[in-house]
Amino acid sequence: MAPVSARAADLPPGITAGRNGPPGRPKPPRHLADLGLPERRVAVTELGERPFRADQLSRQYFARLADDPAEMTDIPQSSRPGLAAALLPRLLTAERELACDDGATRKTLWRTFDGAYVESVLMRYPGRVTMCVSSQAGCGMACPFCATGQAGLTRNLSTAEIVEQVVSGARALARGQVPGGAGRVSNVVFMGMGEPLANYRSVVQAVRRLTEPAPAGLGISARGVTVSTVGLVPAIGRLAAEGLPVTLAVSLHAPDDEARDELVPVNRRWKVAEVLDAAWRYADVTGRRVSIEYALIRDVNDQAWRADLLGGLLAGHLVHVNLIPLNPTPGSRWTASRPAAQDEFVARLEAHGVPVTVRDTRGREIDGACGQLAAGAGPGGGAGPGGRPSGAELPLV
Ligand code: SAH
Repeated sequence: MAPVSARAADLPPGITAGRNGPPGRPKPPRHLADLGLPERRVAVTELGERPFRADQLSRQYFARLADDPAEMTDIPQSSRPGLAAALLPRLLTAERELACDDGATRKTLWRTFDGAYVESVLMRYPGRVTMCVSSQAGCGMACPFCATGQAGLTRNLSTAEIVEQVVSGARALARGQVPGGAGRVSNVVFMGMGEPLANYRSVVQAVRRLTEPAPAGLGISARGVTVSTVGLVPAIGRLAAEGLPVTLAVSLHAPDDEARDELVPVNRRWKVAEVLDAAWRYADVTGRRVSIEYALIRDVNDQAWRADLLGGLLAGHLVHVNLIPLNPTPGSRWTASRPAAQDEFVARLEAHGVPVTVRDTRGREIDGACGQLAAGAGPGGGAGPGGRPSGAELPLV
């Protein structure tokens, strides 16, 4: 099917839609997480194995979270190397791991098979664990306040490269490597590097792998999954029709086209009214409350009149506003709102009857908070304005 998410011709200059890497460069190796269970059975048959080996291998990967063929004792020893080589290639190598909040927040810098860098962040809260994952290496959307947007797009991640970020967090939790005892991933947010809807096919497949029960997938509730977008209108429509009850988050950041054209350049293609229409259709079709992301930037989008304008646009809809105090990024001329302006913004939205929360700034000191992921700089990159991030470096296991 032709990708309708964001055709290059549709987009304003300076914005890059999804791309699968420079032409002629090898694709990420095939991994079982790229395939549905029936396709995995075909793949193992082609290796001369019985189809049920696919189920065993899948259970090892998704349920036991094994990463060493030697642990896969239900599979004959002679079959393990061939199966692992064909369906469990190493896709991501942890290059660096930083932690803060006494280990409850940890950011991992991953190197891909072709030397691209992406980051994921695990955040443990009382009663839930959220993995924030990347969907692209870099990002082509060019939002000026976001560190990822500054370096541009390297390439789309494959389905398995996305899934592997979550599986690796699940593995660390299951093995008790995250303080707080053994645990599970309850939530996945596509709020790391990249524009998920510009890599539509891989992202939707990754959602399927994450939510299908074992052995097909990881068995996370779809209600615990959030896909965040700058507002690629055709792709929002397509996502609504997938029958996946994931939460849609729209990075709005301004209620008026004048400010949004600057803050989220893709707004020059799809205006605030069109983006919100698509969001309301999404809520209608899925019954899910849409989340509106709004980074509060001092004197740029935090004025009381903008809060009123936003409140007026959202009132009466199935919606929730997430205000994000602007996180610092290198070279940015912008800063977070004054506390009084933030309080006033919240109060005005509430006066319109719009539910609103202010997002915590988890991971800020390790440059793992919203808009701070900038792995394009490679290992040691992504340092905040103060130089290197200040969190504790974890030994890589
Ligand atoms: N491209 C998608 C996914 C990224 S989600 C999207 O834009 O929705 C990351 C969220 O953090 C987005 O809402 C983004 O606009 C926001 N963000 C980016 N830079 C930020 C910053 N410096 N401070 C706070 N939020 C930021």
